[in-house]
Amino acid sequence: MRKDFLVFGSPQIEQAEIDEVTECLRSGWWGAGPRVARFEKAFAKYRRADYAVALNSCTAALHLSLLAAGLEPGDEVITTPMTFCASVNAIIHAGAKPVLADVDPVSMNIDPRAVEAAVTPRTKAVLPVHFAGRPCDMDRIMALADQRGFTVIEDCAHAIETEYHGQPAGTFGRFGCFSFYVTKNLATGEGGLVLTRDAGAAGRIKRLALHGMSADAWKRFGDEGYKHYFVVEPGYKYTMMDLQASIGLHQLERVEANWKRRLQIWNRYLEELADLPLCLPAPFEPDTRHGLHLFTILVDEKNAGVTRDELLTRMTKSNIGVGVHYMSVPEHPYYQDRYGWTPDAWPVARDIGRATLSLPLSAKLTDQDVTDVVEAVRAGLKR
Ligand SMILES: *Cc1c(COP(=O)(O)O)cnc(C)c1O
Repeated sequence: MRKDFLVFGSPQIEQAEIDEVTECLRSGWWGAGPRVARFEKAFAKYRRADYAVALNSCTAALHLSLLAAGLEPGDEVITTPMTFCASVNAIIHAGAKPVLADVDPVSMNIDPRAVEAAVTPRTKAVLPVHFAGRPCDMDRIMALADQRGFTVIEDCAHAIETEYHGQPAGTFGRFGCFSFYVTKNLATGEGGLVLTRDAGAAGRIKRLALHGMSADAWKRFGDEGYKHYFVVEPGYKYTMMDLQASIGLHQLERVEANWKRRLQIWNRYLEELADLPLCLPAPFEPDTRHGLHLFTILVDEKNAGVTRDELLTRMTKSNIGVGVHYMSVPEHPYYQDRYGWTPDAWPVARDIGRATLSLPLSAKLTDQDVTDVVEAVRAGLKR
């Protein structure tokens, strides 16, 4: 058994980030400023998008995108039950009502047929999540959006490198929301970003992220002379700091190299776990690029001989950090109490959520780490 604990989702940090953070600290300007502007530009270029607004989280990105979409009380937003709670909470904070549409059992992404069935005259937006980094069926979702006249806001927290039919995830809908949380493919500690082709909406999101103050209010402390600012609506405090952008700039330079490393790890898992009584991730759909954020296995007690929770415990005891992405949203008491949801109403997501277990997939893993993970899964499945 390995000696030290393998932390799940531990980010790969290199000297370039450390040097840039030091330089940023020494410059005396830590808050939102020139490094954030550089990061926004570089990220927009990477994803071939028009505008990027960097924020302090993907949750903030989702919240402000929903506000910029012009939701009104009573409006409905359709999303997936197979996601992190933040996707649903952002809808609630924007004053709308979340509506769930079940997932496809193979892709684990929101099923366009279920979306169609959930549309009502009050549907204002659909919030698909590219789960694990696998792109949603954007042809069908965008066709439905055109037909039924709703806004699409993509949750790209897992999908930084994802492409669908040659086009980057996050550039299909009106907004694409990204996360740079510590465990994500590109990490700034806390961090998020919105991509959009709508200049007006980008400006509104920028303003809402800084107290609702008129444009570029962050420059008020700069050397161009003091500038008065004017509050034009009650905003939030959601800005990214230059300290975070310092890390992001260098993480972005390595994003493709890290993706290639995760592909090697992915293929080793596929090969070396193939003979076990588990369900492994489905092959990539043609003409798509998977973002390779999560490698999820499904543990069905009838085949595997152990429960998912028992395997979680055994792997942790063998010093391998593991994750659960996710128990379906209606498993949580708040949503049951407020909306009367029960897991059984979305049975595909329910079953995935009760069987799923995520293996470490950080680009930081060594070949020996991967071997240790495979051995821990094998050992954990022995009765
Ligand atoms: C991580 C995550 C979020 C939230 O991202 P933060 O940057 O932590 O706010 C939202 N949606 C999904 C699917 C996520 O995995």
